[in-house]
Amino acid sequence: MTGMLIDKYNRRLNYLRVSVTDRCNLSCVYCVSPIHAIKKLPPEEVLRYEEILRIVRIGTSMGINKIRVTGGEPLVRKGLPEFLNELAGIKTLSDISLTTNGILLERYLEDILKAGVRRINISLDTLNRRKYESISGRDGFSRVWRAIEAAHEAGMNPIKLNVVAMKNINDDELADIAALSFKLPFHIRFIEYMPISSHSSAPELFLPYSEIMNRIKTLGEPVPVAAEIHDGPAVRYKFKGAAGEIGFIRPVSHHFCDRCNRLRLTAGGYLRSCLLSNDQIDLKTLIRNGENDDKLKSAVLESVQMKPHRHTLGVIPDYRAPAEMSCIGG
Ligand code: SAM
Repeated sequence: MTGMLIDKYNRRLNYLRVSVTDRCNLSCVYCVSPIHAIKKLPPEEVLRYEEILRIVRIGTSMGINKIRVTGGEPLVRKGLPEFLNELAGIKTLSDISLTTNGILLERYLEDILKAGVRRINISLDTLNRRKYESISGRDGFSRVWRAIEAAHEAGMNPIKLNVVAMKNINDDELADIAALSFKLPFHIRFIEYMPISSHSSAPELFLPYSEIMNRIKTLGEPVPVAAEIHDGPAVRYKFKGAAGEIGFIRPVSHHFCDRCNRLRLTAGGYLRSCLLSNDQIDLKTLIRNGENDDKLKSAVLESVQMKPHRHTLGVIPDYRAPAEMSCIGG
């Protein structure tokens, strides 16, 4: 029998997002600054897999049953498939998913499938090879598209494509990307750009949900899809007769903090109860100081109680969340 993690505002937290590395093989404009280099953690400061597994096991005994592995780019970390395998062995976890940019996905697809991961999110912000390079810093579009096709052929389901909608960058393509859902059974998730950290790119990139939707409605009127058990914060729609669906994640214009069920473990071993707040608990030091499970459980509870009522992006003018996506994991 596992416990339950309930915060001060009566939200039940059952979902842990684990950033396994702060390193990435891309440098996307929404994540990395073109001006300031974000200092990478020295290897010894990154949680070891066995340390992450210990935290996950403790989390599951307290009510976590859902995990997403993210980064940085999780597939750049050596031994990731074996780590996924270990996660899959934790029987109290009912859902393990992976977020990747897809660059290394084809190479590791078989191993990821063997580990039992079927739910995958792949970041793809454009269908144009040149634009892909200008957004991500790498000529990787064809490679990612091949990986998406391979994942589909191998039976991964659902395949979610994460698209960060950005003004004057990919807003001219949002309808074309949404149109993929007519023929392909993918779930295409349009994400409002969040101005994160002083290092991150400009707030001028922000495009609100209403404008994202307006661009997509040029294809027709999408029909709302009923919510399901694995649903995250996305509001879901489908075009009539389409194989796939589209969804919108609107952290700025329609925050979903009242329903937020997430905790995040950073690559450096900090537990955060809100992506957009810098309040965090240092689990790595506790583990490396030899603290027992009870001590770690108390630290998890402390983090849960720190979870803010809501974030302030979009409330305080020009506010930028003091966070680094590459370390925390998006
Ligand atoms: N490397 C992996 C990838 O590219 O999918 C996982 C890490 S990445 C930080 C996870 C997700 O965060 C991506 O899907 C990206 O869309 C989202 N993300 C990163 N920075 C963002 C921002 N400033 N606003 C909105 N979404 C962002």
